[in-house]
Amino acid sequence: MSCEYCRQIGGRHDNRCPLAPESRTNHYCSICNQGIQNGEEYIKNDDCEYAHWECVDYTRDLIEFLGYDVKKMEDYKM
Ligand SMILES: [Zn+2]
Ligand SMILES: [Zn+2]
Repeated sequence: MSCEYCRQIGGRHDNRCPLAPESRTNHYCSICNQGIQNGEEYIKNDDCEYAHWECVDYTRDLIEFLGYDVKKMEDYKM
């Protein structure tokens, strides 16, 4: 049986697969509903919703004008 997300077989998952045990993301993109992985750029709004930078339809200038920062997801210190 292959994974419906990453198509790996035998219970293995690609690193970017939402079911991968090593994907420890705590934040999910409110646009595509995928986890925001370490190293990916994201923005966060005042409602504490996250979105991938790639998923939002804004220019970086507009984001800065609105007072948001484009941040990069860093490794969590467990
Ligand atoms: Zn998978
Ligand atoms: Zn997204």
